[in-house]
Amino acid sequence: MDLGIAGKKAIVCAASKGLGRACAFSLAREGVEVTIAARTKDVLEATAADIRAKTGAKVHAVACDVTTEAGRSTVLKACPAPDILVNNAGGPPPGDFREWGEAEWLKALNNNMVTAILLIKASVDGMIARRFGRVVNITSAAVKHPIWNLGLSNGARAGLTGFIAGLARTTGKHNVTINNLLPGHFETDRMRANVRFQAEKLGRTFEEQMAQTKAANPSGRVGDPAEFGDACAYLCSAQAGFITGQNFLLDGGAYPGTL
Ligand code: NAP
Repeated sequence: MDLGIAGKKAIVCAASKGLGRACAFSLAREGVEVTIAARTKDVLEATAADIRAKTGAKVHAVACDVTTEAGRSTVLKACPAPDILVNNAGGPPPGDFREWGEAEWLKALNNNMVTAILLIKASVDGMIARRFGRVVNITSAAVKHPIWNLGLSNGARAGLTGFIAGLARTTGKHNVTINNLLPGHFETDRMRANVRFQAEKLGRTFEEQMAQTKAANPSGRVGDPAEFGDACAYLCSAQAGFITGQNFLLDGGAYPGTL
């Protein structure tokens, strides 16, 4: 299926590794010119080179922290009129809410809620004027079923989800859609670090804990980031113009509810 987005321009945040990288890859394979951002320059540039070599797409690498005003302006300078915006940033640390003060909460809200809103604010009116726009926010399965020790993530991402639910209904008539993708377990560096953390706490090896994580999922496995990237590319497609304000859970069936 031709997604009809060849030649479009995309910003993909937090994209040197993991889910962001997979989204950039899938978009580039569709002929989208991608601007990818992450903080660690050499890793980011290696990813850009890899995507260029495997897809032939134009890829711009912008080393910056997207959760800062300076970082966001650098990305927007490199791609001032994006047709596609994929919002993503590192997730907050686990812990007990009794350990978190104002600084921890403001950081989580900035990284996983406000940054996405500010990037949307900077690009959505241009998308509306051009009558094409696709925004995908990478959130978390924790929005659907909160994880007790990830309170910072549960709270900040629920805030973003609530905001998007309203905004997305105002942009659809201009062919500008805004949706959220909610990852369950996908095998990335972050997921491997979480598995290592749990293994240490439970006195298991990394391999035992990874096997347990896979066995606990109804699909008997964890997700491949490429599956996530392709879902993102579909939401960014020309054909997906009637889908807006939605939350898509990609978790292999782990969420046990009917709806
Ligand atoms: P990952 O493999 O650790 O990759 C994170 C990427 O984000 C890296 O490229 C990293 O590069 C970049 N990054 C982090 N903070 C950044 C910042 N402030 N500015 C620019 N780039 C930044 O993580 P992932 O698994 O893909 O996770 C992506 C998001 O999905 C996170 O918010 C995570 O909490 C959420 N999530 C993931 C899963 C999962 O199973 N993988 C499940 C639920 C939710 P630098 O460090 O060099 O900046």
